[in-house]
Amino acid sequence: MAISRVAVVGAGTMGNGIAHVFAQYGYPVTLIDVSDDQLSRALDTIGRNLDRQIKKGVLQEADKTKTLQNIVTGNYIPGNVGEADLIVEAATENEALKLKIFKEIDASAKQGAVLASNTSSISITKIAAVTWRPGRVVGMHFMNPVPMMKLVEVISGYHTEKAVVDEVVALSKALDKVPCVVNDYPGFIANRILMPMINEAAYALHEGVSGVAEIDTIMKLGMAHPMGPLQLADFIGLDVCCSILNVMYEGFKNPKYAPCPLLVNMVAAGNLGKKSGSGFYDYSGEGKDLVINSVFLK
Ligand code: NAD
Repeated sequence: MAISRVAVVGAGTMGNGIAHVFAQYGYPVTLIDVSDDQLSRALDTIGRNLDRQIKKGVLQEADKTKTLQNIVTGNYIPGNVGEADLIVEAATENEALKLKIFKEIDASAKQGAVLASNTSSISITKIAAVTWRPGRVVGMHFMNPVPMMKLVEVISGYHTEKAVVDEVVALSKALDKVPCVVNDYPGFIANRILMPMINEAAYALHEGVSGVAEIDTIMKLGMAHPMGPLQLADFIGLDVCCSILNVMYEGFKNPKYAPCPLLVNMVAAGNLGKKSGSGFYDYSGEGKDLVINSVFLK
């Protein structure tokens, strides 16, 4: 079935970016979130990011209008996913929540629709198993920030039909992204490699081996990474990082993936990174310069 209408469930960091990209490429999108605040924040963010693209000369003012016109919002899955050919779930990284959401989507989506999850680590096979159409469930893992990042990790679950994988690969290309197909194991590829690095950076800080600035500078200048692992963790969200590490810890039954106690403490304290205004860095000011969270200054 050709994909011409899309629904995105979850309007947080990733959901707004996913809706933005589909709408920019001409797909009518219904963006669904249980929180009205999140929906209005998402529309604001999309507007600001479109302005940035205009400033860079990537888009024209008319493209912004068309993109925003392509997005409608809703609070409930029933009644808002029935017309979609593709539903991309981008809700909180919590297995029980995702299983509940997929049961709801499965009950409301039309026959033949593709059900995709943007999960960073949770088993696509497990998610597919709660639906009546496991062959049409797939992972479509966009990277943050979605409008800028080229990669889409396409995850083929145990029962995912090859035709569905091919459809999502073609669709990703139509969004000017570069899809890479991987099999369904905890953390897939991107996070299986990225998260141990972030965790190790947190351990190095926790053990006093070095400071926030030094750890990030070493990885930026020494490895040519565009941003250090601690800043990247703040961008991803420390809660999301801990959830992914826990999925790999449980999935492989291997203690090397256990989240560093410092990450766990920061999440418990509500310091989730950029989205909460504070993580390894402080985001409460307006300035462009990175400000290290005072907790980490000697
Ligand atoms: P987030 O916390 O910013 O947003 C999650 C959103 O889901 C919130 O707006 C919340 O209100 C909404 N939500 C919760 N329950 C819902 C429900 N029942 N129905 C509809 N909406 C609901 O999280 P995020 O960072 O955008 O992550 C979303 C997904 O994308 C996760 O699976 C995460 O692992 C994955 N992901 C995140 C990143 C990243 O850098 N943050 C990168 C790639 C993938």
